[in-house]
Amino acid sequence: MSKMARKQQKNLIQDIAAQRMWRLFELAKREYAEQPDRSERYVQLIRNISMRNRITIPREIKRSICKHCYAFLMPGKNARYRLKEGFIVISCQRCGKEMRYPYKRLK
Ligand SMILES: [Zn+2]
Repeated sequence: MSKMARKQQKNLIQDIAAQRMWRLFELAKREYAEQPDRSERYVQLIRNISMRNRITIPREIKRSICKHCYAFLMPGKNARYRLKEGFIVISCQRCGKEMRYPYKRLK
């Protein structure tokens, strides 16, 4: 396979992997209210895809996952969001830990 073809194949695999992560993320959001444990399972699948294909989890998805215990974070349910000195501080109510991300105006 040529170098070019290899690169194209790699891009394709990454696209497919990213699409699968978004789909799992949508499912996790949708099912959280009824079956929060299923959302956790989706998070696990998202992480597996990321690791297996060595691609980073899209930012929006990443911020819905606790960095420490990998809980699927739902604002007002198991996560508290607040702004502090230019950061978004997210507290996970399952493990009690916090994550902070630089705050940029969201579209
Ligand atoms: Zn946590």
